Amino acid sequence: MSTDMPANTTDEKTTEEPTVLFSELGLDARVMAAVADLGYEKPSPIQAATIPLLLEGRDVVGLAQTGTGKTAAFALPALSRMAEVADLNGPARTPQILVLAPTRELALQVAEAFTSYAKHMDDFTVLPVYGGAPYGPQLAGLRRGAQVVVGTPGRVIDHISKGSLDLSNLQYLVLDEADEMLRMGFAEEVDKILEATPEDKQVALFSATMPRTIRRIAAEYLRNPEEVSVKSKQTTGTNITQRYLQVMGAHKLDAMTRILESEEFDGVITFVRTKMATEDLADKLKARGFTAAAINGDIPQQQRERTVENLRSGKIDILVATDVAARGLDVERISHVINYDIPHDTESYVHRIGRTGRAGRSGDAILFMTPREKYLLRAIEKATRQPVTLMQLPTVESVNNRRIQKFTDRIDQTIISQDLTIFREIVEKFAAEHEDLDQLEIAAALALMAQGGRPLLLTEQSIPASKQARMGREGREGRESGPRSRGKSAAEGNAMYRLAVGRRNRVQPGSIVGALANEGGFNSSEIGGIDIRSDHTLVELPAELSKDQWRALSNTRIGGEAINLELDRGPRGRRDDDRGGFRSDRGSFKDRKRQSGSREGGRDERRGGGDKRFGGRSKSRFNDAGRSARREY
Ligand code: ADP
Ligand code: MG
Repeated sequence: MSTDMPANTTDEKTTEEPTVLFSELGLDARVMAAVADLGYEKPSPIQAATIPLLLEGRDVVGLAQTGTGKTAAFALPALSRMAEVADLNGPARTPQILVLAPTRELALQVAEAFTSYAKHMDDFTVLPVYGGAPYGPQLAGLRRGAQVVVGTPGRVIDHISKGSLDLSNLQYLVLDEADEMLRMGFAEEVDKILEATPEDKQVALFSATMPRTIRRIAAEYLRNPEEVSVKSKQTTGTNITQRYLQVMGAHKLDAMTRILESEEFDGVITFVRTKMATEDLADKLKARGFTAAAINGDIPQQQRERTVENLRSGKIDILVATDVAARGLDVERISHVINYDIPHDTESYVHRIGRTGRAGRSGDAILFMTPREKYLLRAIEKATRQPVTLMQLPTVESVNNRRIQKFTDRIDQTIISQDLTIFREIVEKFAAEHEDLDQLEIAAALALMAQGGRPLLLTEQSIPASKQARMGREGREGRESGPRSRGKSAAEGNAMYRLAVGRRNRVQPGSIVGALANEGGFNSSEIGGIDIRSDHTLVELPAELSKDQWRALSNTRIGGEAINLELDRGPRGRRDDDRGGFRSDRGSFKDRKRQSGSREGGRDERRGGGDKRFGGRSKSRFNDAGRSARREY
């Protein structure tokens, strides 16, 4: 059986999938009662398809994207069977059910889910075991006896070899988020655990995708498994609106601020690429008055849990996270996912945006992309089967209208809810003493005081989507009709770079543009003014270059000479930031250098996987790394 069959072709609108009810699946009454308590109306497609199979005792491979209810798909039948066995034999003393999950967060989440699904079962314990936490409580928990153990592979192995986890009576093993587990380099551990468990156990493997390694595991360890695959249609489903904004790196923070100021949002999760960037962005958002916090793999587990709890309860509104730290997070109030840095691959994108639109709500996904990342859109649209539409940066006017609205709301609110007597008297007296002042003027002065020195309104400043519009003539002139004055500094989001070739080497603007475009992957709109000097050339390029771009460009030659690309350190080249009302926290030259440094230095945090974590060179991988051809210009 597979729900992966071609949809009914005759009349898709009227022939919806037959609705199955939980009551038709054959679940135990105690489990049904818990489902009713949770308010689940009907089984999700993956649940409807796999629960009957698992109740029959079949091994199952279940494929469905995040947010489709896979936890209940394996937990409900497992609990149901366990309850019935316990009725006959009395409660088990050793673990009956073992779930492997890739991260601590997911193990905890699954353990919580199990606990809620087992609410009406007596004598029942779920124990999460994961690395990075002390052994003591886990050992004590195992000694006391747990029927369900949910753990990360490494720690489960530890307990097996310590002899603290007795799997001799295991009935049911689940590999949850199997693709992620393997991507994180746990293949060996998974093999070992599967080998250490009894032959006749039932195995369920759940995953969002089906890479080859999973096929191998299924073939090796599952007995005649039934494969159920639910296509993504209602997952990245119509309940998530996807938009993208073209924005250059240095303007992302301003863009994000404007979006947050002009959209109705509840909880927000925003993704960046490195651990350092999570802290950095969270700090900057806090400085701008938002309640934000960072989570990444370096932050201690307890603190991470607290942070997620704070998001759930509304103590903070914005979570800045790396992919790994946010994997599988299930927080209902997340209304927006902002991809501040573009993800590594389409799969990560799908996982990221799956953090919103939880529990049937609608969600918004916004992707920041620089002009040169635009080609990735099609891959994303293909992966999500949904259009990603271009959004416009909220205008200064719309942001300001909202600010004014909020400000005046505060006045209203204060008048309604506060006791103004004392201030009324003071103002009255003040007005009487200053008959020349009209009352409006006094009110305005107080309003300014209330604002506490911060400007209420945003001042007009341009955040270019790409340099094209603004550069137009100036840039092109610089490039095509000779030198541009050195006094001109790089525009926002750009920096001045120095090439070790100049007039002496007879370089032409055309060969420079050609070399940069071909080797650095820039499109022409990203290459700003070119100033060819006698022994070097200054070129304006995006301030943030990727490692690959640096690598490619450091091998580039023009007219036989190595260009030795470097940031220009000339005295005037550095002073490019105090213009147009941009303050230094929005990407001064120094900042940008730090940023690009941190990008190179900022290791991706999934350890132990090496290249494995990309599941080989998956086609959907974005970066075409390793281009180092030595072409001549
Ligand atoms: P997955 O593992 O596929 O990413 P989860 O198991 O974490 O998905 O479930 C996502 C959310 O959907 C959870 O909040 C869960 O409580 C909820 N959920 C699961 N099954 C149902 C259902 N049948 N009806 C309504 N909500 C459900
Ligand atoms: Mg899951």
